[in-house]
Amino acid sequence: METRILGKTGLAVGAIGLGTEYLRRAPRERVMQVVDKAAERGVTYLDLVFNFADYLDAFASALDDRRDEFVLAVHLGSSERKGQYEKTRSPKRCETEFRESLARLHTDYADIVNVHFVKTQKEHEKVKEKGMFALASRLKEEGMARCVGMSTHDYGVAVDAATSGLVDVLMIQINLANNAMPHRNEMLAVCAREGVGIVAMKPFAGGKLLQQNRTVRITQYQTGSKALKKKIPKMITPTHCLSYVLSQVGVTTTVPGVSTLEDLEGVLHYLDATDEEKDFSELLVDFQEYVTGECVYCNHCLPCPAGIDIGECNRLLDRARHGIDSEIRDIYSMYPVRASACTECGQCVQRCPFEVDIISRMKEAASLFEE
Ligand code: SF4
Ligand code: SF4
Repeated sequence: METRILGKTGLAVGAIGLGTEYLRRAPRERVMQVVDKAAERGVTYLDLVFNFADYLDAFASALDDRRDEFVLAVHLGSSERKGQYEKTRSPKRCETEFRESLARLHTDYADIVNVHFVKTQKEHEKVKEKGMFALASRLKEEGMARCVGMSTHDYGVAVDAATSGLVDVLMIQINLANNAMPHRNEMLAVCAREGVGIVAMKPFAGGKLLQQNRTVRITQYQTGSKALKKKIPKMITPTHCLSYVLSQVGVTTTVPGVSTLEDLEGVLHYLDATDEEKDFSELLVDFQEYVTGECVYCNHCLPCPAGIDIGECNRLLDRARHGIDSEIRDIYSMYPVRASACTECGQCVQRCPFEVDIISRMKEAASLFEE
């Protein structure tokens, strides 16, 4: 595994890290197997995005007596309400939950305390005013964190943070699908200049880039353009995606999310891949445009007052758009709350960083699966 230095933190990390979002509900044994296998191949960076007790307990078992072999990012402000993810901006609650998370992980420090998901520049100002960065900085002074990080999906927010002097590390989505997103490359250049390490999340755009023989051009995929059907699709592999991400200026490590050992094998193949397998140049022509509105199943839109698991519902809807079968219907029938429960309150729309028209999508899901 190639080792890279995470900006001014000086921390050495494997170029491939691990995102853990999709292990949220995995049994402890699977989490342990995934972490074992990843560690065996040199993965050191682990992003622990949630503070659910069972999730942290599983990682505590996986890390066991080798905590110091990993660089752990623990999020400040990623909370829970009634079993659903919830973002909080209360420094008091954040501190309590951060300390609880460390205790659950059987460690007394995080390598990175990550101020969680700052959506807009206005929110960035609010977070600063409310004292979230002051809290992160104090946790660093008290030895409970080695560095301060922040996660965002907004490149303007990332530039503000990188030049604020308050963060050492930024976690942000970098992938082929946002190759042409305005201001992305300027942001990467600013971070490189400021020595702010970049942890690239969503290297597969939430899995969308890996829908074999289907996704060629995100814009066409989204609009269902006939041109897509006429075109010979190009296969996009995890190795293409990782190779692209790791070639971008300033990116130190990437944290692909996996839910199974098989997913992990797909990721780790990158380490054995030939130069030819890593060559993504032919794909770039299909990613010269960027459009908003694509769901990447991140669930930053939760909690939904009606209890809908919006990310999962959107994921199934995207699958169904390419052909609905009994397996899809069975999965939907097991959802505890269905899309038709949407009251159109709009709370999720305010939180979604990707301008997804969630209300329309819930209507579409209800009509597709429930009628
Ligand atoms: S609707 Fe937006 S916030 Fe919700 S899962 Fe999709 S991309 Fe994420
Ligand atoms: S608009 Fe619908 S899906 Fe979104 S939070 Fe409200 S009830 Fe939930």
